[in-house]
Amino acid sequence: MIRVAHIFLITLLFWSCTSASKSTRTKPLIVATTSILADGIQALVGDQAEVVALMPAGVDPHLYKASVRDLDLLTQADLVVYHGLYLEGKMTEIFEKLAKQQALIDVSKGIPTDRLIRSGPESHSVDPHVWFDISLWSAALAYASQELQIWQPSWQPQLQANTQAYLQQLDSLDQRTKAQVQELVQRKQVLVTAHDAFAYFGKAYGLPVYSLQGLSTLSEPGLRDLTELIAIIQTYQVKAIFAEQTISPKALQAVARGAAEKNQVVKLAGPLYTDSLDAPNTPAGTYIGMFETNLQLIYSQLLP
Ligand SMILES: [Zn+2]
Repeated sequence: MIRVAHIFLITLLFWSCTSASKSTRTKPLIVATTSILADGIQALVGDQAEVVALMPAGVDPHLYKASVRDLDLLTQADLVVYHGLYLEGKMTEIFEKLAKQQALIDVSKGIPTDRLIRSGPESHSVDPHVWFDISLWSAALAYASQELQIWQPSWQPQLQANTQAYLQQLDSLDQRTKAQVQELVQRKQVLVTAHDAFAYFGKAYGLPVYSLQGLSTLSEPGLRDLTELIAIIQTYQVKAIFAEQTISPKALQAVARGAAEKNQVVKLAGPLYTDSLDAPNTPAGTYIGMFETNLQLIYSQLLP
C-alpha cells in the first residue's frame, strides 16, 4: 500500500513538473503549510509574492494528510515553507521528496535547539508549538527572512524593511502579553486546555499549563488523564478551562462534568485558536489577532 502511494506521488510530481502553469504567473507562488505560517510569510514578503496556506483555517495540522490537489499545489509552488518539528506529522515524507527538486524552508531551523521543549529523546517528541512564545516565533520568521533573501536576492531591501517592522510589532505584542499574564500568575491562576499547545506560552510567560492530550492530537485521552485533570482543577479551584478550535470539546466537557460532580464548578470557555488561525478578515484571522484573541479570552475568564 505504501509502495503504491510512493509510485503515485512520484508520478504526480513528474506530471506537475511538466505542466506549464508556473510560467504563466505574474508573481512567485509561496505555499505555507498552515494559516499561521502563511500570515507570517505574507508579512515578510508583502506584495512581492502570492502566499497561500495549504491547510484551510480550522484544520488540525497534526492529523492533516495532503490530498492529490494539495500535492499538485505544492509542486506548482515556487517555494514551500513549513513549520517542521513534526507539526505536519503526516507530511514528512512529502517534504523529503520535495526537497530534491524545489526551494523549501523549514522555519524551525531558526530556533536555537536549547530553547526547544522535549517530552523525550526521540526526534518527534519535540514540542512544535513554538509560535506561542513570541520571541521564538520571531526567531523562526527572522530565519525565514534570511532564507527568502537568499532565494530572491533582488527582494533584499524590501524583505529587510518588512522583517524589521513586523518583528517590532511582535515585540510589542510580547510586552503586552508579559504584563497581562503576570497579573494572572500573581493571582495564582493556571491554564487548562485540550491539547498540549501552550507549553512554550507557559514557559515564556510563567503561567502553569495543564492539558488533557499530549503534544499531538493523535492519541486519545484516557480515564486516568481525565481524573488527573479534575484533581488539578480542584487543587487550583480553576474557574475556566479552554476548548480549542481544531479539537472536539467532548473530552473537556467530560472533565467539566467530572469536576462539577466533585463540587468544583468550572466553565468550559473558548475556543482558543491554537494550531490554526480563524477565517481571513476575522479578529483572529492573523497571527497577532489570534494571539490577542486568545490572551484576552484567557485573561477575562481566569481573572478572579
Ligand atoms: Zn497542536
